[in-house]
Amino acid sequence: MALRVGVIGGGQLARMMIAPAVELGLDLRVLAENEGMSAQLAATAVGDYRDLDTVREFVKDVDVVTFDHEHVPQEILRALVAEGVEVHPGPDALQFAQDKLVMRSRLAELGVPQPDWAPARDAAELQAFLDAHDGRGVVKTPRGGYDGKGVRVVRAADEAQDWLDALADGEALLVEELVGFVRELAQQVARRPSGDMVAYPVVETVQREGVCAEVIAPAPAAADRLVRVAEGIGRKIAEGLGVTGMLAVELFETDDERILVNELAMRPHNSGHWSQDGAVTGQFEQHLRAVADLPLGDPGPRSPWSVMVNILGGPQEGTIGERFAGAMIEHPSAKIHTYGKDPRPGRKVGHVNVSGDDLDDVVYVARAAAAHFD
Ligand code: ADP
Repeated sequence: MALRVGVIGGGQLARMMIAPAVELGLDLRVLAENEGMSAQLAATAVGDYRDLDTVREFVKDVDVVTFDHEHVPQEILRALVAEGVEVHPGPDALQFAQDKLVMRSRLAELGVPQPDWAPARDAAELQAFLDAHDGRGVVKTPRGGYDGKGVRVVRAADEAQDWLDALADGEALLVEELVGFVRELAQQVARRPSGDMVAYPVVETVQREGVCAEVIAPAPAAADRLVRVAEGIGRKIAEGLGVTGMLAVELFETDDERILVNELAMRPHNSGHWSQDGAVTGQFEQHLRAVADLPLGDPGPRSPWSVMVNILGGPQEGTIGERFAGAMIEHPSAKIHTYGKDPRPGRKVGHVNVSGDDLDDVVYVARAAAAHFD
């Protein structure tokens, strides 16, 4: 019988696991939050992933559980593990992707380079950190942030007063130095339960208004040292935290040539969408191989350059489907991926991958094809 992989969460990441699961002969099952989600084709259950009985019912018929997002509560994950369910990544690893303060202290123990940081339980603690860092800092809510929500640059503690007021007893915000980065990078690693690992080439990510807009693979003009350091950081974190499946490490490259860890994701990640068409083994296939404890695939690029451009928002008028033919006729080398979502300003509704020999050409075609969906 085919190995049954259960994915908790019905978003676009689960959707993009469907095709590779079919090809690998895996039986993919999805617990979606609602009807009509991106991964509805594989949705075998609809329900709340914060409800233990719902999750228990879903995992009854699967051999291994993995995720579309990192929001499943620790208590639920630990209950599943205690009941003998295979969960990848497991709760011990996933906690570091669920809480940025927990991540910062663990990475400090591992000796991984990161921005200066501190917990801020109240305005006095926050102000003390700002005073020690040129009067500015980046305040983050440790849990539940995404796409720049829950991240705020501040010059005075009262600019985060609303978040401080919302803290429960014993909770804290995270405050970090405002890093003067020259660019943002991402390093992906896949790791099997047995410990086998493969590393993808480090990529450059471009964010606009806190949202990933474009990715260039590999990162242009990356010196050998940078490539080695980034890979070393990815491997050290995957091993040190016991990650199983795909790990993405978001990085800052500073003007004094340091590489600092921003944050972690333990699942396929937007920075790795290029690999669907641009690498020998795409990240969705790789994640499934890793969580199913199958041999890992070659993460190497198929072309000198690959560029991914997100389709953000979607058409102001009409539907995404109506734009397809135009994009396909004008840009036959572009691989267009859509998520089955309704257009909405700022929403990630799809992406375009283009690969080739000339970076300028590849960037041009990827942007032009994505622009058909504006
Ligand atoms: P999210 O969890 O919402 O993705 P991140 O922690 O990745 O939040 O932050 C979003 C963006 O904010 C980053 O991609 C980066 O551009 C900027 N940012 C985050 N932390 C810092 C920092 N310490 N210094 C400078 N910029 C930062």
